[in-house]
Formats: sequence, structure tokens, C-alpha cells
Amino acid sequence: MSGNAQNQNGQKIEKITCIKHGEYDSHVVGYKDQLYPQSCPKCRNDEVEKQRAKEAEYDRQQKVIRYKNESGIPKRYKDRKITDVKDNESTAKALKWLNRYLEVLEERLQIGVSGSLCGDCGTGKTLMGCMMVNEIINRGHSAKYITAWKLIQEIRAAYNAPDLTLAGQIREFIYPEFLVIDEIGVQAGTQDERNLLYQVIDGRYNEMKSTLLISNLKDPVADGYVDARTIDRLRENGGFALTLSGHSYRV
Ligand SMILES: [Zn+2]
Repeated sequence: MSGNAQNQNGQKIEKITCIKHGEYDSHVVGYKDQLYPQSCPKCRNDEVEKQRAKEAEYDRQQKVIRYKNESGIPKRYKDRKITDVKDNESTAKALKWLNRYLEVLEERLQIGVSGSLCGDCGTGKTLMGCMMVNEIINRGHSAKYITAWKLIQEIRAAYNAPDLTLAGQIREFIYPEFLVIDEIGVQAGTQDERNLLYQVIDGRYNEMKSTLLISNLKDPVADGYVDARTIDRLRENGGFALTLSGHSYRV
């Protein structure tokens, strides 16, 4: 009888049938003169996997919360999604691009596909940038939004603080997988600003991170706010340059 079989260690083995996994060998474990068969190893394995998945999902959710707290998204644009962007004559082309970007997000982030969004004031560019950050964070990736002016202020903080370094300040902006730099053209447009901006974009390029520049200007290079080499970096790896015009709207 199978009930009397033994393993190498002399433990009794019983054949037991699991409703889910079928027959298995159970080592009978003795406890206080009673013999107890072991539970199905596959069921135990499933339980461990389930627990592991639960922990992974918890970690992911904690990461999303942290990324959201650090995203820099203005309150007005918090939790905005791609469906919040009005699809009209002006936005259609950009929306299509960004939609596609999100569809193949992992692939895009892997190689750091970057781009620029230029055009008239009030065409929804900031909303688009913020919704991209939100959507990307919701999928468990780090993403940040900042204006060019604030970015430069934060990097320049190293000029006057002995405990900060320029490289360290720049590194803060190289870390996120996706970075939106809005309001290009609102800063003063000095050589130092263009340089700092280039260092951020170039550092991100080298780390294959995605960057989205947003500007109300049609051509930030011609207007002296961005170096041509900065734009070249954004164009690598299938980078996009989108222009919005016409219908002004606020949402
Ligand atoms: Zn089982």
C-alpha cells in the first residue's frame, strides 16, 4: 500500500490528491502521536507566489505615490489624463503622437525618445505635458514636470550654497525617466541658462532618458533660449517636434 511507503529519511509517504493539482507524495509529519499529511506543495507554492505578487503590487503603489509627490505637477493639472485633452484641429496631431507614445511607452522610455511641443499660448501644451507625467507615473515610471525658470534656479542654487554642487543639482534632473521642461522662453535667455539647459538635456541624452521641452515660441533656438545642439539631442532616436496653433483654450 502506498500509505506505507517511505522516503530516504524514513518518513512515511502517502499519496494524496489535491483537487487543483492532482496526486502528490505527502510526507506524513508526526505531532503529539497524531500523523498529519503535508499540504499540496503546488498549492503552497501558489500561496507564496500570490503573497509575492501582493507585495510587488504594494511596492509599485508606494512608488507611484512617491513619484506623484515628487512630480512637480501644478495643482491645476494634478491627475489629468490624456482623455482630458480636447481633441481639436490644433491639438489633433500632437495628441496622436502622445497617444502613440503612451501606447508603446516601455519601448519609448527604453531608448529615451524625446521631443518638443511648441506653439501659441493657451493651446493646452502644459496640460499635455502634465498628463504625460501623470500617465507615465501611473504605469510605475518616474516622471517630473518643471518650468525652465525653476530648473535654472534650482541648479544655480549650487552657486551660493557650499553644501551643493553644480553636478549634484544637475543630477537631480537627470534621474527621472521622463522630464517635462515647460515655459522655455520665459527665462532671461543668457548664455549661462542655455548652458545649464544643455547640460541637463545632454546628461539625459547620455543616460537615454526622455525629455519633453515645451515653449510658447515657434522657434526657441532662433529666439536665443535654447542652443541648436540641445535641439539636436532631442531629435535623436526618433525624437518629435510638434507645433500647435490656432484655437486657444484653457481647461
Ligand atoms: Zn494543490
